[in-house]
Parts: sequence; structure tokens; C-alpha cells
Amino acid sequence: MPSGYNKVDSTVMNKMNKVQVLRLIHNKKNISRADIVKLTGLTPPTVTRIVEQLINEDGFVKYLGIGDSNGGRPPVMVAFDGTESYVIAIDLGATLIRGMLTDLNNDIQMEIQISTELEKGYEAVMDNLATVVDRLLKRRGLIINKVLGIGIGIAGLVEGKKGVIEFSPDFGWESVNINDSLNKRISLPFIFDNSTRLMALGERAFGIGKNYRNFTVINIGYGIAAGIVIEGETVFGSQGKAGEFGHIIVDQKSNIQCQCGNYGCLEALASGRRIAALGKELFGKRESLMISELCKNDPNLIDAKLVFEAARAGDDNANKVIEVATNYLGIGIASLVNLLDPEVIFMGGGVSSNGEMFINSLKKATEGYLISRKKNLDIQPVTFGDYATLTGAFSLVVDKILRFESLQ
Ligand SMILES: [Zn+2]
Repeated sequence: MPSGYNKVDSTVMNKMNKVQVLRLIHNKKNISRADIVKLTGLTPPTVTRIVEQLINEDGFVKYLGIGDSNGGRPPVMVAFDGTESYVIAIDLGATLIRGMLTDLNNDIQMEIQISTELEKGYEAVMDNLATVVDRLLKRRGLIINKVLGIGIGIAGLVEGKKGVIEFSPDFGWESVNINDSLNKRISLPFIFDNSTRLMALGERAFGIGKNYRNFTVINIGYGIAAGIVIEGETVFGSQGKAGEFGHIIVDQKSNIQCQCGNYGCLEALASGRRIAALGKELFGKRESLMISELCKNDPNLIDAKLVFEAARAGDDNANKVIEVATNYLGIGIASLVNLLDPEVIFMGGGVSSNGEMFINSLKKATEGYLISRKKNLDIQPVTFGDYATLTGAFSLVVDKILRFESLQ
């Protein structure tokens, strides 16, 4: 065996041990050195050396002092320390670009949002994204080299490795190279993924999803998508395109065309965009007094939220719109449950934020189509609400940091 092998092996081994110790400390928040030895199986001198490195060189861990002894030698307590390092998370949506600066403990230091200005085209949107990053970096007192990276959630078919968005129906982009565009504008390392998959990642890392090995996040907003977790891992598919739940066809005979070109896709029939369009139709035909009243006779103000509001206020036609959309969602979600058998479904996105009543009617609609006629299907809102994608973008970066891997 060439002599270089041992050296490589020991470097790799050291890094693996360090990652194992850091992840353990991160998970436990605080822990004694003796418990690290017990839980990792590493020797006490190795643990002491790694902990010293994590404190003095990497700055991710701090001493908490001596803990309570229960008979033996008093334990040396250490804790994860995320207060000195920062991450920027970006949620690039069709309407807004939202950004937050957080420390590694996920304490938000600053957040801003600006209009995406989709109508101005791809390059303008990239400029706006860079503006959000710049403004966050200007936070008073921030030392820029303490910002370890930027995580970005984007709606669309994201091919992570090549950095290409092949097709984003929400944005109307085809074959754009995000890596190239952002490298020209941003000097910090960045990483991005599909915004719904990031919702699932954030849910798994920091949300109620932590307690489950198999779950799906369904994001219903302007479009519809799913982030799938199977046996604790998010599903990418062969080219990063898994989860295009909005484009399963739920009504083959429908004459409603989807942004993708097909007819009768779930997204075409039940997304926020569709609900808003049907609300506008009711307004145009003067078939919903409540909608006219709520939008103050300005159809431009009719969005899905307003239609839900009209339905809740007892408007029959608005209720019919929601019922039809809910039924299509039930068909889609039942297919997904039949296929994947998740423990729980988390609902995210603007449409999903319409309260318990909506989630309950969704549950009822879905249960009607389940092959097992399984009752008590567990459907819950995502843990972080509006912050689901941002939390996922944050956890995408943190995951790399805790593995000592580079972002790009
Ligand atoms: Zn479609």
C-alpha cells in the first residue's frame, strides 16, 4: 500500500470525528465532555483535543464551566455557540424577495423584503436579489467575514449541481444559469435549492418534522409543489426535479391549461393563482357581493386570501370556488399518500395559511380518496409558517458548515 494512504486516512478520520462531535454538541445544545466520549465512542484525549479545536480555532463551541457531579469527577460542560457566525437566507418568490441575517443559533439579526419585479426580467431579479444581500451585509457592526454563506430558496426546477434552472413556470424562466448570474454579483459563497424542498429540509432540521422519518411538505401558494422526506432524507430525484406535485394531472378532461403547457394539472386547478382567477370571474359576473365589497370594487386586489375571506364570511359562490379547489387538492394529496404512506403531511404556502377550517376540509376531501380509507390522516401546518423556506435555506447552509464542507 502506498505510504500516503495512512496520512489521507487519518486526515479524513480526524474530520469525520470532528463533524461527529460538533453535530452532537449542536443537537444537544449543551453536553459534558464525558457524555461526548460515551456517545461517540471516541477516546477522552481525542474528544478533549477536538473540543479545544472547536472552541479555539472554529469558534463554534464554548465552555460552560463545571457541571454538577453525581458522585464521580465533576463534568466539564460545553455548548454550541452560534452567536459569532452568521448566515444569510433568501426566499426568492414570484412577488417578494425576502432575506434574513441570522446567527448560527437561528436568532434573526435583521430581515428585509423587496419586490421581485418579475416583469422586469431575469437580470433585474438577480440584481434585486444581490441588493437584498448587500443591505443585510450593511447591518451596523457586522463583520463580513463572519458571514459564512448564503442559502437561497427558488421556486422552480432547480438542478443544484449545475446551477441551472431548467424551467420555472412561476417565473417564466427557462435554462437560466443562477450560478453564473450570482457569481457575478455576490462575493460570498452561496447555495440554493427548490423552495419547497427547503421547507421540508427546515422542517426536518428544526421543526416538528424532527419527530418523523417519513413526511411530505405541500406548498400551496402561487403554485403547488411538494418536498418529500423518506427515511429522514429529502428526495431530490435523479436530476433534482422530484416533488413537482403541482403538475400531476387531476382532471384529464379539464380545459384549463397549466403554465407547464398541460391541461388539468393540480396547480392549474387549485393553486392560489387559480383561486384568485375564479374570484375575479365571480367579480366580473357580479356573482359575489362579498368579493366586490372586500376588494372595494378593484379586481386587482382580488387574491386567494380575499376569496377565502369571502367564503368564511358566508358567500356561497366563494365557498364553491374553495370547495372545488379543495376537492382537487384532496385527489392530489390522496394520490401522494397512497404512493408514499407518510406519517404526516405539513401544509405550507399562502393558501395553506387559511386556518384550521381549511386544513380540516382538506383532510376530509383527501380521506375520501384514500385507498386504505385511512382515518385520522395527520395534516398539520408547517412549523415555521411564512418562514418555512427561509428556515430551510438557513439549514441548508448550516448543514454544510457543521460538516466543514464548502458551499459551492
Ligand atoms: Zn402543469
